[in-house]
Amino acid sequence: MNGPCLGLLALQGAVDLHRHALERLGVHTVEVRTSEQLASVDALVIPGGESSTMSKLLVLNGLVEPLAERLSNGLPAFGTCAGMIVLAAEILDGRADQVSFGAIDIAVRRNAFGRQIDSFETDLPLSDVGDEPVHAVFIRAPVVERVGEGVEVLATVDDGRPVACRQGPVLVTSFHPELGPDLRVHELFLSQCVGWTTHAR
Ligand code: GLN
Repeated sequence: MNGPCLGLLALQGAVDLHRHALERLGVHTVEVRTSEQLASVDALVIPGGESSTMSKLLVLNGLVEPLAERLSNGLPAFGTCAGMIVLAAEILDGRADQVSFGAIDIAVRRNAFGRQIDSFETDLPLSDVGDEPVHAVFIRAPVVERVGEGVEVLATVDDGRPVACRQGPVLVTSFHPELGPDLRVHELFLSQCVGWTTHAR
């Protein structure tokens, strides 16, 4: 298959739904658990899950240095929910030893919507995916509390807090665009960050 080889960080979390979304777009995906696998991919999706657990597994699997190096060399990356936390510059309410890569200059607060509304769904306008809002599912989601220069805010919740951001080849969302039939956020990553035109099946 032509086009990029997309890696899915498969240490923990919601890997399968991303794979299905990407396969529906005709993209070849490989699971990444080792530095050898990481070296073979052109872009990386980091799924939702539990960012502190993912952090421990990144350390155990010897992926922290290789991933930091690839990201600093411009590896396109798409992080959803826990994946957004892993890619952020700063984690608020994280574990003290929790790793993040600073691939996008944002500070994110974990579990930012609190226990009362730890999961909810809403329709959000999202820049660059067309006029129809995106149906966004939030599950114990982080929000962005600081956005650095050079970071574009693509979507916010009602109170104005950012929940989708992009900086260069790195795209992050607080919500889970892989949960549902709408592939536009994955397409946005592929077309703008990876530079590939997809053909939905
Ligand atoms: N609350 C989780 C964390 O801190 C993220 C939840 C998710 O990915 N759905 O990592």
